[in-house]
Amino acid sequence: MKVIRTVLGDIPNREIGITDAHDHIIRSGGPEVRQDSSFLMDDVDAAKREFQNFLNTGGRTMVCMDPLGCGRNVTKMLEVAEEFRDLGNIVMTTGFQKGSNYCPNTSFLATVDANRIAEMMILELTEGMDIHSYNGPVVERTKAKAGVIKAGTSYRIITRLEQKALKVAAITQKETGCAISMHTDFGTMGVEILDVLKGCGADLEKVILCHMQRNPDRYYYEQILDTGAAICFDEPNKPQYRPDIAIAEDIKWLIEQGYQKQIVLGMDGGKKEALAAYMEPAGLANGLEYLLTRYVPLLRKIGISDEAIDCMLVKNPSEVFAINV
Ligand SMILES: [Zn+2]
Repeated sequence: MKVIRTVLGDIPNREIGITDAHDHIIRSGGPEVRQDSSFLMDDVDAAKREFQNFLNTGGRTMVCMDPLGCGRNVTKMLEVAEEFRDLGNIVMTTGFQKGSNYCPNTSFLATVDANRIAEMMILELTEGMDIHSYNGPVVERTKAKAGVIKAGTSYRIITRLEQKALKVAAITQKETGCAISMHTDFGTMGVEILDVLKGCGADLEKVILCHMQRNPDRYYYEQILDTGAAICFDEPNKPQYRPDIAIAEDIKWLIEQGYQKQIVLGMDGGKKEALAAYMEPAGLANGLEYLLTRYVPLLRKIGISDEAIDCMLVKNPSEVFAINV
């Protein structure tokens, strides 16, 4: 049986519904927050309002991609999830962001053997997440399990620490059958990530490369998709990187080339300014529901079929995030 592992338990994968495949609604600290306070999103009530807006506009499942050491807050996320029990699903992650978020000499990612780290991650997926996110010597597991493995790479380089995180992700996947969702920096190193993962025995059909819209190269996309891996196009409403229409035209082209089954979509708002419910004082901002209220209509307007949209928002997430139990 195929299931989606939400923080409130497993659900049949066909019940995933419309899915935002990469987002964040709570981030309680971590290196990014220390650099830029707009990364801090620590308010349970605001997160509830934001998630409610996503559900009100047709959303059902949000994959929240906050990994170890980057402000993941299991307790607060569970509070949000409990509020929407039977109305919406939250999937959480275990694993790592790109290497610059961890000390290359003293972090546990650096000092502990890869197989032992994989054991810790497997427990997060099979027993329950540590409420301290492995930030300290005391581990206290909740019943809430992670449902996705994360790893990350840097801009134009996969550092040694990141190669180790990829190895850990592959070992964890082999043991659990869980998807690996990758942070790529500006969409770079996709081909190399897949090479490393494949070399470690990962199943590339259960690998998702995120942020690929930042590297708009159709030949490169084909190279990646021909391995069987999936691409997540996230970050609509971030015109400082690319306008929505440019990403939409790339998606349309890839669908025309036959890659419809390997594309998932997300917002990856990432910061307070992208979560309308967090804005203080309240103002006029687009929240995560933008994916469904503004971006999907654009996809439709340029001629992407309802069937293809359903595939990217529902069917593909229901397959790639599924775990066989
Ligand atoms: Zn993200």
